[in-house]
Amino acid sequence: MNCRECGERLEVERRCRQVRLRCQGCHKEYQIHEVAADLDPETEALLERYTCIIYD
Ligand SMILES: [Zn+2]
Repeated sequence: MNCRECGERLEVERRCRQVRLRCQGCHKEYQIHEVAADLDPETEALLERYTCIIYD
């Protein structure tokens, strides 16, 4: 999926026990719950690989 700010691609980034989506353009970070409603199937599939996502 794409950044709400600049439209660049968001990459899944895993950090310790947390997973974030980070924009490749403006480097804005999104928490999963912020974008949960907008996740596309591709991103959702990536997130499903992480077995212990913390939805904080
Ligand atoms: Zn951005």
